[in-house]
Amino acid sequence: MKTKIWLSSPHMGGEEQAFVKEAFDKNWIAPLGPNVNGFEEDLQKYNEITAAAALSAGTAALHLAMILLGVKTGDDVIASSFTFSATINPITYLGATPVLVDSESETWNMSPVLLEEAIKDRIFKGKKPKAIMVVHLYGMPAQMDEILKVADRYSIPVIEDAAEALGSKLNGQALGTFGKLGVYSFNGNKIITTSGGGALVSDDKEMIAKARFLATQARDAAPHYQHSHIGFNYRMSNIVAGIGRGQMLVLDDHIALRRANHQFYQDLFKDVVGVEVFTEPDEKYFSNHWLSCVTMDPEVCGVSREDLRLAMENENIECRPLWKPMHMQPVFADCPFYGDGTSERLFEIGLCLPSGSNMSEADRERIAAVVKTVFK
Ligand SMILES: *Cc1c(COP(=O)(O)O)cnc(C)c1O
Repeated sequence: MKTKIWLSSPHMGGEEQAFVKEAFDKNWIAPLGPNVNGFEEDLQKYNEITAAAALSAGTAALHLAMILLGVKTGDDVIASSFTFSATINPITYLGATPVLVDSESETWNMSPVLLEEAIKDRIFKGKKPKAIMVVHLYGMPAQMDEILKVADRYSIPVIEDAAEALGSKLNGQALGTFGKLGVYSFNGNKIITTSGGGALVSDDKEMIAKARFLATQARDAAPHYQHSHIGFNYRMSNIVAGIGRGQMLVLDDHIALRRANHQFYQDLFKDVVGVEVFTEPDEKYFSNHWLSCVTMDPEVCGVSREDLRLAMENENIECRPLWKPMHMQPVFADCPFYGDGTSERLFEIGLCLPSGSNMSEADRERIAAVVKTVFK
């Protein structure tokens, strides 16, 4: 069996173990310590934002973001339907209702037009949504200018799920810094990883201080254990934060490598009619190209995305269909949905291709060989 080519696998830079070793040497084996502080500072500097809280997961950061915005049982929270379930799950942890909004076809992210339609209809039905959760899928910036205009018109705060988009920019500004709160993930398959982890960022220092408080069991200032809020055990450990500090040193390299993968696929498919490589609409958009994706119209190219996926699988090369929209998931089937078929179509014809920053020239040759046989 040929070695497996993964969709996206961890890629260490080399300095990570030095930070972890230092934590061992100084016995900072705790959910606080110099690596946690250092990693937060790195994230703040990199994204040019006032405050960051390192947490146990991106999902935990999304959960806390909604608590900080006062989301409660019975509230409506608007969210992109075309995403991973981790965007939507925390809405339900709070007993709130996910109101799912479809994508536009340029960035595959939340349609500002459908967003406004959803807000108007929810207000008409008697309830103004409490928050808007915008996702930047595969690292591609959503149309934030238009989305923020709509959100401001109705005074609804925006949370950015930038779990896949660390290092992506719109008009030169880091994703995750447009909304009231932004979320990053450092899960094993993301652009950098701490093996598992996440962060919540904001220009509102007090909100982030409150996030740290809630994430460490909401302990009031007292010599004994005193509590006046419900807390969570959501802080990042000082050990894995050391991995994060090491990974921050190679983040820009990883972005360059992922963008080179994207260029490789653009070249590979440039003469294949009916296949389109997902790319930025114009130069205002800068995607980290966390995953490179294609859409393939079987009517035009004569091959379905499943044909290509299975041909790759035969060669031990991992590809995946695009995210299955949340309104199509059995568990969210009852959620209100405002759509026009865009994400359903993307799910039908789209495929994610191997995109790791650790992909070799030999890996690319194997991938190109499969593409050449499938499209003859
Ligand atoms: C990975 C991911 C998350 C969840 O992050 P975790 O760190 O795995 O909890 C949330 N939203 C999106 C879009 C993701 O891709």
